[in-house]
Amino acid sequence: MRTEDEPRDHACSVDLTFSSEHSQADASVGFAGLPWIVRRTGLPLLSVRCVDCPSRSATTGKGRFRVNANGKLLDVWLLVRCVSCDRTSKLAVHERATVRSLDPALLDGYHANDPELVAATLLDPPFARRHGLALDWRGAWRLDAPPARLDEAWPVRVAVEFQDPVPVRPDRLIAHGLRLSRNEARRRIKCDVSLRRPTTAGFTFVVMAPAS
Ligand SMILES: [Zn+2]
Repeated sequence: MRTEDEPRDHACSVDLTFSSEHSQADASVGFAGLPWIVRRTGLPLLSVRCVDCPSRSATTGKGRFRVNANGKLLDVWLLVRCVSCDRTSKLAVHERATVRSLDPALLDGYHANDPELVAATLLDPPFARRHGLALDWRGAWRLDAPPARLDEAWPVRVAVEFQDPVPVRPDRLIAHGLRLSRNEARRRIKCDVSLRRPTTAGFTFVVMAPAS
């Protein structure tokens, strides 16, 4: 049983937007199913307690690292800022690492505040565990789902892909994506994963015809 590692559910408070970029999705409907894609639109906030104020929310802002060299040893931190009082904190990424132990390209990325490296660092589960922080994905992701053609032949098969590890509860994602109530979604969905357990792994489901 997974307990503490289980991602928290963030799906209910997110505005889902529907992009038209899959307007050619018809061509790919078939065995693989209609593609739905979960992707981040920004960086999640960090749920951590501020030492200076009652806030429990911090941001990486545009994303900055600090690198400090001490002889042949390096410290690398990710800087985060309290959303309420602006206090900046440093979260260790590497502590007293030998220069040789770090890939030069990685070190360049830290010096350049490479946005992809900021995201990769923040989304690395061991990093969050080490600092006792949870990620708050509200407003930082979206679902790209071509409109389901509810007049088409049933059942409809959908394949959900995660471009980023945003924990979502399948039943809520499906209900939003199909614009159905959660109860109706549960009645009409056949799915190979638990509908209520938040996941960051791709899954497929089949939507059965509405009861007539
Ligand atoms: Zn604060």
